[in-house]
Amino acid sequence: MWYPGHINKAKRKIKEYLKAVDTVLIVLDARAPFATTAFERNIFTGKNILYVLNKADLANKKYTKLWMEKIKETSPVISFSKAESVNKIKGFINSHSKKKLGETRVLIAGVPNVGKSTIINKFSGRKLAKTGMAPGITRGLQWINLGSVKLLDTPGILYSKLFNKDVAAKLLLIGSLPVESIDKYDIITRAYEIFKVELNLDKTFEEFLEEYGKKRGFISKGGNIDFERTKNNLFKAISEGKFGFFTYDKEVALWMQE
Ligand code: GDP
Repeated sequence: MWYPGHINKAKRKIKEYLKAVDTVLIVLDARAPFATTAFERNIFTGKNILYVLNKADLANKKYTKLWMEKIKETSPVISFSKAESVNKIKGFINSHSKKKLGETRVLIAGVPNVGKSTIINKFSGRKLAKTGMAPGITRGLQWINLGSVKLLDTPGILYSKLFNKDVAAKLLLIGSLPVESIDKYDIITRAYEIFKVELNLDKTFEEFLEEYGKKRGFISKGGNIDFERTKNNLFKAISEGKFGFFTYDKEVALWMQE
């Protein structure tokens, strides 16, 4: 998943979408707002950038508040989770639309699995008609009509620069980096180190995995635990908040200026 060809293709697609939009709603995961911003933001230079701290239901509320305050210093931001009304996002876009006259055209962008499609799907509920192409707009794009705002129905997928092990480990913990795609064991063990602090565990990764796999009956033919199955199941459970609601990025000072 993380090979350059894939990333370049995604970047080309976003650049194509950007021609047609003036506002970009960047969706971050509230549990890792820094790690989910670790992509090349210069791609959006000149656009009106708004942030959503999404999956707030899975994050530590204390840190979500701190992140909101920090991000607000430079950009508009709201917190959100899928149980909330999507009108919250609609109102947010409307109140920060730079285009007073005419229509704002919005692209929802973010790294994989932060909840972009879920938001778009909530917007495309039956009351909202899809609109056809507008003049001067890249051909073939579908828009969801939100009154004075038009939203592109295709999310822009960004790939992290993954500039260090901690960023990769946090993306793994929130499900933005599929555990199956990681062949570097040190990223997996780093993720466990970060996770274990939240639960006050003193077990090693091997001990924890052994116990977790045994409890669920993930045993391979030889009688040992099925490492692949156990590891995949464990990281899925962590990313879905089955162990609790944690914020892994605690250093709000890491927030990058535009
Ligand atoms: P995308 O890759 O950014 O388009 O992410 P999706 O919209 O496909 O969502 C990825 C997963 O996260 C799905 O299983 C969603 O049901 C789940 N999800 C999306 N938003 C939320 C949220 O606010 N809270 C929780 N708990 N799960 C969410």
